[in-house]
Order: sequence, then C-alpha cells, then structure tokens
Amino acid sequence: MIYLDNAATTPISPVVARHLQSAYVDIFGNSSSSHALGKQAEKTLEQARESIASLLGFPKEKIFFSSGATESANIIIQGYAKHLLRTNSPRKEILISEMEHPAVYTTALSLENAGFTMRIIPNGKNGVIDQQALESMLSGHTGIVAIMRVNNETGTIQPIRELSQLVKEKDPGILFMTDIVQAIGKIPLDIAPESVDAWFISGHKIGAPKGTGAFYINSKFRLQPVLFGGGHEGGYRPGTTNVSGAHLLSISIQDSIEHLEKHAQHARTLQYHLVSELTKNRIEFKRTIEAEHSSPFIFSIIVPGQKSADTIQKLSNQEICISSRSACSSNSHSKSRILESLNMPTELIDSVLRISFSAENTAEEVETFAKALGSIVQNRSAKSTVGQPEKEKSFLERPAPHHS
Ligand code: PLP
Repeated sequence: MIYLDNAATTPISPVVARHLQSAYVDIFGNSSSSHALGKQAEKTLEQARESIASLLGFPKEKIFFSSGATESANIIIQGYAKHLLRTNSPRKEILISEMEHPAVYTTALSLENAGFTMRIIPNGKNGVIDQQALESMLSGHTGIVAIMRVNNETGTIQPIRELSQLVKEKDPGILFMTDIVQAIGKIPLDIAPESVDAWFISGHKIGAPKGTGAFYINSKFRLQPVLFGGGHEGGYRPGTTNVSGAHLLSISIQDSIEHLEKHAQHARTLQYHLVSELTKNRIEFKRTIEAEHSSPFIFSIIVPGQKSADTIQKLSNQEICISSRSACSSNSHSKSRILESLNMPTELIDSVLRISFSAENTAEEVETFAKALGSIVQNRSAKSTVGQPEKEKSFLERPAPHHS
C-alpha cells in the first residue's frame, strides 16, 4: 500500500510506536485520583503539558488537552461567544478566512443562531489573506478573528505573525486564533503569545493516536464551558483525561519539531521529484497554489479533464491512497468551499488531486504513483480520442509540457 494522504491522517510515527505499549499499559491511572497511581498519571500529564508549552513557547497553565482539533475549536469559539453574550458585549462578529476547516467554519456559522455574524475574510492571490481587506473588516464589533496557518486542502500558508500583529495593533481586545493542525512539526509556526490568543492541534496529523489534541487560550480571554462534567482540563474539557494520549502527543510533537527541517526538506525533495515524474509520465497538470505559498507536505494539482473521484478510485484499486480534499468532506457531493474560494472553474475543481506526504514516504512511492497516474490519464485520453479528428488528439501527442 502506498499512502500519500497524510493530510487526512498519518500512521503512528516510528518514535510514537516505540512508546505505544508502555503508554497504554503502564500509564493507566486516573490523573484525578489521589493515590500513588493517580499521582503518577498526573505527573505524566503535567510533563506532557510542560513539554508542549516549552516547545511552542506558550505558558503551560493555559494549554489544555482535548480529543482533537474539532473539539478544541468548538471549546474556544463557542466558549468565547458565550462569554461575549454573557457580558452583553457589542462584539458580535466572527471573522474567519475563506479557507478555514469545517471545525472553525461550521462552529462560527452555528453561532449565527445566537445573534453572531460570521464574516469571511477574502483571499488574495494563492489563497493568502488580503491584509487590506482584513484591516477594513476590523471594528468594535469584531469578537474573534480565526485564520489557519496551513490549509489542509491546498497547503496555502498564511503569515500568521503579520496577520495577528495587524489585528492586535488595531484592537487588542479581539481574540485572534489560529488552526495549526497542518503546520505543527512541519513548518515554523510563526506564532507568539503576544499576538496569538488561541491555537489548537490534533495528534493524528503528526503520528500520534487519533482522539488526541490540545489547545491554548490566553488568560486574558475568558471562555464559558460548552461541555459539562468534572473540572478536568481547566473545566473546559471535562471527562477523564486521556493521559496516555497526551503523553504520546507530546512525544510526537517533540520528535516532529526536533526533525522539522529534515522532514520539511524531505517533503520538498519528494515534491520536486513528483513534479519531474509527472512530467516524465507526460501528465498535464497545474499546481493549485504556487510552491512558495504552500506547505511542502501538501501538493495540490489540477489534472485537466480527469475527474478526481474517478482517478482516486482507480488509484485505490492499485493500492495507492490519495485524495482531492479534506477527508471529512470527501463523501460530500458539494463542491469544495476552499477550491471555490480560489475562483477556480467548476470543471477544474472536479479535477483536483491532493497528494500529502509524511517523513516516511519514499522517492520510489512517488515514482509508482506518477506511473499509475500516467496510465490512468493515457487510458482515458486514448478512449476519448477514438473517432476524433487527428488535430484534437490532446496534449499527449505533443512533447511533454514543462512545469516549475
Ligand atoms: N483543522 C485542520 C486544518 C485539519 O486538517 C483537520 C483534520 O481534518 C481538523 C482541523 C480537524 O481535526 P480533528 O480530526 O482532530 O478534529
């Protein structure tokens, strides 16, 4: 099996795998219990929190463990909206980038029922936020600004430090939050406690088990709880804490941050290799986002005339896993909101393929994939040219195009 869909989820990383058994078998105490085993679990939990805090440079008292990114985004956005309502604040607008994951988009949208307005900050070129547009949207009514560091469908990178500083200079009372799920351990995060008030991460995108995650909230911003139960994790995420998961999450973060440069270089090399292999296999394609604005781990391309659903199925039949968009939307028949935001014509949206790498992928896997894609494209092209005039015999008859 060749797995090139690491933006959807990653396999357990080799370093996490080495700790898996001991994390789940040896650390089984309830971190809230007052006996020795409970204390031991609590110590492990606090060590994990401390490790994440020092790796990211944020205060550990305000980092909380959760089951992943969706839960974290809900706790932050709904929790702060509840606080704004409770305090009769005039801040009734939630500004989000056009590219936010549904974890942010649908949570913000749901708050329209509670009297909030979700406003979309338009993309500039390559999906990067238009800073002038953002600035002009900020006002005394702005409660939250949410902009992700790396988009999961296209790989677009946002300059979070600049954007958060812009928001904070205009009004420090606005909560600036960022989804760093596809960025942590992959590219520099570009976040600082002075300007970023909240972030969240998900373990299963960086080699930790599913159901693990964490978020940060600046102590200047009060969140009302949206989940009720015991007072675990600051009262924000009640329920017995997943100590083993938190421990493994901290191991995966440490490992991926320590090897960030090496892994990013590996992903970059795989991308270059893939570009030359696609060309070698005479596949016409176009990048969705230019490389300089995109994460090296996510390679989104348009293969004109080739329906992505069909291509993905044919590749899957050959045990090659890629996708076209986020896994949680891939069964939906609606068009990708993210790709639409790039003003891409419908027929091109239908032809987008997302190839996403991990540190474990190899050049041979990339070659096998490009070859398989090449034969799918050529088969289709051969079928569609039957009976057509010679001059319409598609680009396959012409010299292979050059792509940068
Ligand atoms: N944000 C981004 C950018 C993602 O890629 C994902 C994963 O699908 C999420 C949020 C949601 O993550 P989780 O599965 O942990 O809820």
